[in-house]
Amino acid sequence: MSKKRAITVAKGDGIGPEIMDSTLKILQAAGAEIDPEFIDIGEKVYLSGQSSGIEDDAWESLRRTKVFLKAPITTPQGGGYKSLNVTIRKSLGLYANVRPNISYDPFVKTKHPDMDLVIIRENEEDLYAGIEHQQTPEVVQCLKLITRPGSEKIIRYAFEYARKNNRKKVTCFSKDNIMKLTDGLFHKVFNEIASEYPDIETEHWIIDIGIAKIADTPQDFDVIVMPNLYGDIASDVAAQITGSVGLAGSANIGDQCAMFEAIHGSAPDIAGKGIANPSGLINGAIMMLVHIGQPEVAGKIHNAWLKTLEDGIYTGDIAKGAKSVNTKEFTEAVIDRLGQKP
Ligand code: ATP
Ligand code: MG
Repeated sequence: MSKKRAITVAKGDGIGPEIMDSTLKILQAAGAEIDPEFIDIGEKVYLSGQSSGIEDDAWESLRRTKVFLKAPITTPQGGGYKSLNVTIRKSLGLYANVRPNISYDPFVKTKHPDMDLVIIRENEEDLYAGIEHQQTPEVVQCLKLITRPGSEKIIRYAFEYARKNNRKKVTCFSKDNIMKLTDGLFHKVFNEIASEYPDIETEHWIIDIGIAKIADTPQDFDVIVMPNLYGDIASDVAAQITGSVGLAGSANIGDQCAMFEAIHGSAPDIAGKGIANPSGLINGAIMMLVHIGQPEVAGKIHNAWLKTLEDGIYTGDIAKGAKSVNTKEFTEAVIDRLGQKP
């Protein structure tokens, strides 16, 4: 019997197919024991009349393999299209969004050479719960949902992540000076769970000054946990200051299923040109390999990818006007470096 792990793969829209082909080629060359099952999601599916952007039989593959490697998709503008990301997170119970933000200075120039933080964002509750009402033609309302079980789950995940990954501090962001009940509950649960982890340093910042501190002194942070909407905003700020949105990957974790992706969008402006940076999806795939119990292959790919950057081989988004390579050349450069010493 094959020991290959079945995974569900979606090539997505825009630059999606280009960066997915690159990533799968690298996984194969590195000897990842995976058996990809391809599903169609995104623009084509939306436009064929399925407003969720995903076909019914794609769920069968996702529920069976429980592991999803997903390229970015385009949501058509206007019309009644829902966000497929929100649909997938809720349907598969992916409660934790894990986004590492690392500086690769001096190989990728940034203003923050010592940055190495992980944002852990609650992924199902808060203002994303979709509880919106129109009260009168001129008054609309959106309800913020924070639950004790949801808060306990994400905060415990953050502390367990810190322990497992040898991280020293967990910071909580909230706005409980204003939202005393909702954010107050999140902060209270944080303090309760923190007391179970005396080995880990803890701190709390009000969200506005917290994000300002990420932008100014990101090196002061380690693991940061926060409710959904704050996590969305904070993680874009953190990713941007590492040098390019094309670099970072993310994991969406649930009790049964998990989804891995790049943090950026489908970049329609450069789609089809063969110049996209596949690094974000490669980093998502590295997190996937660790999740499915293939950490050696993950490490091998990570080292080869780092070596590629160290050797000054950049796609256009990183080279910023200097000499650059295309997606295919970057992919081959990573494959050439598999197994080399970092
Ligand atoms: P979406 O709505 O799908 O999230 P967006 O408008 O937020 O899309 P992105 O698709 O993330 O934006 O693109 C933002 C900018 O970054 C674009 O100019 C795009 O070309 C560039 N970009 C994004 N990803 C990459 C990548 N992997 N390689 C090179 N450039 C990228
Ligand atoms: Mg975007």
